[in-house]
Amino acid sequence: VSNSYHQQGVGIVGAGLVGCLAALAFNAKGFSVTLFEYRDDPSKTKNDNLRSINLAVSARGIRALKYVDEEMAERILEHIIPMKGRMIHDLDGNQTSQLYGLFGEAINSIDRSFLNECLLEEIRHTDIKVLFNHKLVAFEKNHGEDQTPKMTFIDTSEGDAASKTFEFDYIVGADGAHSQFRTQLQRTMRMNYSQEYIDMQYIELYIPPSESAKDDSKFLLNPNHLHIWPRTNHMLIALANKDGSFTCTFFSPWSVIEGITSTEQWISFFKKNFKDAYDLIGEARLATVYETHPRGSLLQVNVYPYHSPDGRAILLGDAAHSMVPFYGQGMNCGFEDVRTLMELIDEKGGDVLEAFRSYTEIRKADLDAICKLALDNYHEMSHKVTSLWYLTRKRIDSLLGKLNGKYFQWIPLYTMVSFRDDIRYSQAIEIEKRQGRFLNNIQYGFLSAVAVTSLIKGLQMWGRRT
Ligand code: FAD
Repeated sequence: VSNSYHQQGVGIVGAGLVGCLAALAFNAKGFSVTLFEYRDDPSKTKNDNLRSINLAVSARGIRALKYVDEEMAERILEHIIPMKGRMIHDLDGNQTSQLYGLFGEAINSIDRSFLNECLLEEIRHTDIKVLFNHKLVAFEKNHGEDQTPKMTFIDTSEGDAASKTFEFDYIVGADGAHSQFRTQLQRTMRMNYSQEYIDMQYIELYIPPSESAKDDSKFLLNPNHLHIWPRTNHMLIALANKDGSFTCTFFSPWSVIEGITSTEQWISFFKKNFKDAYDLIGEARLATVYETHPRGSLLQVNVYPYHSPDGRAILLGDAAHSMVPFYGQGMNCGFEDVRTLMELIDEKGGDVLEAFRSYTEIRKADLDAICKLALDNYHEMSHKVTSLWYLTRKRIDSLLGKLNGKYFQWIPLYTMVSFRDDIRYSQAIEIEKRQGRFLNNIQYGFLSAVAVTSLIKGLQMWGRRT
């Protein structure tokens, strides 16, 4: 980011992944940034968050990091583990690799808390003011004659009585799926809003590093794959960490987990469905998980528009579009929000009000598209990856993808979403629809040909007999 705008004040609510990147991006453009975070400073507290998940960072996220600061991106990317495909584990523990990319492309595993801490560390080297233990409780638009919006926070380090009010030229709400800023903003404008809980829960588990192995083989599973144990209506996934461990996530409908009523039942369920993972995790750890780890719920949130009518406030990241995690795009998309907004600010010559307005206009189709894709991908991960129809389709899709540009244009959907940062999510859906129709014709055409040939053969045999 090279442009520099005069010192206008930007207040950002939420120092999660998106809030931090937005703070760095505004700061790099010369804005005076204050970042508010409900939690305590993670560098001063022990992380006992049992929901510390691994994220897959892919092309869009990486492009946004590089856009904000190329060197920062390099520093962060040193800590990723590339995953070039899925490793499917069947009930007998057999593993089959399915590559993601056509030419060895990979998505990248990184611990969410670690990434958040990396971004906060970058922030510590800037003049961004970070106020931890500040919980947003109120927002008022058009305060005073200069139309400056006002936010009220409780300083939780000083007790409930310590409420403080701040005024900014512009406000960014990046306080996550349950955004308080969004709730406050909705009171001041006509904002469409929908929230849907998906009938799905998740629990985090852990595969430790190998105790006996030397440094180069400290992983008990292949680290360069996203491991999946697809079991139709539930599944387990595992992503590698740098220390040789794997963070696993068990996803299932609520009825499955609620149907398990004791530690013994949970252990035998696990042993039956994920025998090889059971061996790696161990019974004692599984028992602890069942007894102490929280069950997370998954929800989809959509809002429209993303900015306030006066153009002074905007929602980014999960606060604007919480999606289910099955395409690994929530954060990547949030990072892309930041880049998109910054490019608009440049395009509008530093007119933030105009940039906020244009952002809503151009971003809606893409945010709707990725929320839909994320939901659809659950069926692919939990079920379709093992079906012959899907596997054949994938083969043809990949083959055509490899020929892309030679005789025709063909880019598989996964490539468009995860490995390309120049194709909008909404475009990806449109292109996939066209390609999908063609693949259907090939597959149904092939099936019809087989059916007709069998019918002819059957009739010939019948004719010979009579
Ligand atoms: P958050 O990370 O939720 O941050 C919001 C911040 O705001 C928090 O720090 C919070 O403390 C703070 N806050 C909240 N309320 C207030 C308040 N009142 N006042 C002040 N501060 C407040 N995405 C990917 O791209 N790839 C993946 O592989 C992936 N896997 C996932 C797996 C799972 C199981 C889940 C649940 C999500 C996954 N995601 C993934 C999605 C990703 O985690 C989110 O999209 C991302 O964390 C959103 O970042 P955010 O900054 O918008 O919100």
